Amino acid sequence: MKKFIIGNWKMHLNVHEASLFVAKLAQTVPTKRNVEVVICPSFIALQPLSLQINYRQMKLGAQDCYWRDSGAFTGEISATQLRGLAQYVLVGHSERRHVFDEDDREIRFKVQAVLRNGLVPVLCIGETATERSDGDVEHIIGDQLVSGLLNVGADQIDEVLIAYEPVWAISTSDKPILPEPQDIEAAVKIIRAQVAHMFGREAGKNIAVLYGGSVDKDNARTYLSVDGIDGALVGGKSLIAPEFAGIVEIASEIAKSEADKDE
Ligand code: PEP
Repeated sequence: MKKFIIGNWKMHLNVHEASLFVAKLAQTVPTKRNVEVVICPSFIALQPLSLQINYRQMKLGAQDCYWRDSGAFTGEISATQLRGLAQYVLVGHSERRHVFDEDDREIRFKVQAVLRNGLVPVLCIGETATERSDGDVEHIIGDQLVSGLLNVGADQIDEVLIAYEPVWAISTSDKPILPEPQDIEAAVKIIRAQVAHMFGREAGKNIAVLYGGSVDKDNARTYLSVDGIDGALVGGKSLIAPEFAGIVEIASEIAKSEADKDE
């Protein structure tokens, strides 16, 4: 199966810097048929980058969107407005949930809006350090999934990506901790079981599940080799071209060796 490497640039780079950085990525990121590479710049950079990137090499994603298609919503950007500029949209990133207090209802509406507009939602879920130490992981990520996917149709689930991002592992969190591969494997099992419960066994097996949290080119092999993981959502290191390119290269090698094993 194809791997996904998605770079989340967060609130970094102005339009000019974004364009220069994409020119650098164009020279460093390998184009691989078995890896879908997506970069998520700020909204303002999407339009110029949509004219600059080579779509065979990478696609564009937005970091968020509003859930109404249009109307009197000053300052918001809808999934309808993103059509033609982005192919993916991050929904429910932990910074949206915890810095901007986005709730499960809004996140659910955003997932629907993204699908309604023919784009791919990357539904981000994950527990905080406290929730983990309270033993609530299964409960928290189960609830985030049920709520986020509640209005997704059985015919749409194949278009959704899930990013499991334990908040305590994100490089900008208070004291980031690198998770053990078995922590991620356990979470992926919960995610696949929940999707299977909601949409059937095939959906649970087929849905793409990405890991996110302090991924770099040195640990990418470990995390991308976790059973059931189909890619990575990369924050900090997506702004360092050789790191991001290295992660893409490793993803491609792992995708190839998995395909060889399946033959
Ligand atoms: C993120 O914020 O989505 C993320 C995974 O960040 P980092 O890779 O910097 O931990």
